[in-house]
Amino acid sequence: MKHKRVSKNEIHEVEILDLSYEAYGVAKIDGFTVFIESVLPGEVVKVRIERVEKRFAFGKVLEVLKASNDRVDLIDPLGTRIGTMPLQHMAYEAQLQFKRKLVIDCFSKVMQIDQDIVLFTLGMDHPWHYRNKAQIPVREIQGHLETGFFKRNSHDLVPIENYHIQEPEIDEAILSIRNILRDLNIRAYDETNHEGCIRHIIVRRGHITKEMMVILVTNGKTLPYREALVQRILEDCPNVVSIVQNINDQKTNVIMGNTSNLLFGEDKYYDKLLDKTFAISSHSFFQVNSKQTEVLYAKALEFANISHDDIVIDAYCGIGTITLCASDLAHTVYGVEVVEDAITMAKYNASLNAITNTVFEAGKAEVVMQKWVKQGIKPDVIIVDPPRKGLAESFIDASIAMKPKRLIYVSCNPVTLAKDVKKYTEQGYELISVQPVDMFPHTTHVECITLLSLKK
Ligand code: SAH
Repeated sequence: MKHKRVSKNEIHEVEILDLSYEAYGVAKIDGFTVFIESVLPGEVVKVRIERVEKRFAFGKVLEVLKASNDRVDLIDPLGTRIGTMPLQHMAYEAQLQFKRKLVIDCFSKVMQIDQDIVLFTLGMDHPWHYRNKAQIPVREIQGHLETGFFKRNSHDLVPIENYHIQEPEIDEAILSIRNILRDLNIRAYDETNHEGCIRHIIVRRGHITKEMMVILVTNGKTLPYREALVQRILEDCPNVVSIVQNINDQKTNVIMGNTSNLLFGEDKYYDKLLDKTFAISSHSFFQVNSKQTEVLYAKALEFANISHDDIVIDAYCGIGTITLCASDLAHTVYGVEVVEDAITMAKYNASLNAITNTVFEAGKAEVVMQKWVKQGIKPDVIIVDPPRKGLAESFIDASIAMKPKRLIYVSCNPVTLAKDVKKYTEQGYELISVQPVDMFPHTTHVECITLLSLKK
């Protein structure tokens, strides 16, 4: 079909047909696709075309002519501009339905499934102020050091004081640190010339313990007024137990570099999950929504249905959170994780909770699994929680060779989840359930727990 292209600045009236996985409303103008922010399926809106690409365009909504029943008032239009809450205009119940549909769509693209297998998304009672971690870019705007967030699809910093989705104590800490940096005249990073000092402020907070860790990411080793800076942060943020300088001198979008200097305390803070205490270091992963993490882990353990003589593997175990929660139910739990420092934390966390039936190994899961296969380790249950890119082919092969009765796949990316699950279903496993969990309200991210069972 030949499409008539639209042109910049044209104004059109369109109906929204669908919502993309990035929360853009999808409309067609003479067959040409237009993506529009802050709209919902079924709505009729007046848009102005803002950017035209080869196969699609972006439009800005000028007026909603017919609103969806799922539309709610915006908490803060900036949250849409910076992409921290692109679904804020959608009623929370509708967001949960939308996320279930995203998961169903991802599976339907690669395999046939009965939609009832995908359960209703588990949401939050109060879906605000949920993040226990913030990574905030620092830049100079018209001579002022500012903290905020980049505008969607750009590196233009929008100054922000209230993020709405972070624990408010974290927002406060960021403002305090911003003010201290201003007082001490410490320069913000300048991306264009690769100059200046502070690139990011990272604040992590124990949801239960209230302890905070501050990481200052600097463009090189130099950090002026280091002692005064530390002193002032401790005065203004009394819950801070650890301050780390992380050095990132690369021209990259990756936030943290490989080397760190401890400025105050130890390189760890503590938090609790499901009545267990965890030490968390600056380089290790910890789920960002503490409340929902308990929901996620409880559901994963329910699916795992572990009995006392079971051998369990927790692959991609981070600091051992799932491993240690599963250890109460199992005979032995093996954890594997690529970040060595996280494995150091995992071992420390086992002793902290007086747990003696876990074995941790640092390395790539796909490599360590093959070693475990050779050693004759025969897990009854395997739990995996890989990063967005999903499982390596060699991991899938090794896990199938071990013939676990059940495989629990915790995933933050339904696209790779569906692809990997398909491979298991082709090699003797049955897909029993997929449980979406809303770890990131008002964003389009969706976490899933999947239960695969070995066919008799
Ligand atoms: N289950 C943990 C961590 C999940 S995040 C929790 O809930 O906290 C995924 C983890 O996989 C990260 O800690 C990351 O460092 C680790 N990882 C990434 N690639 C890996 C690989 N190839 N092998 C082992 N671990 C890996």
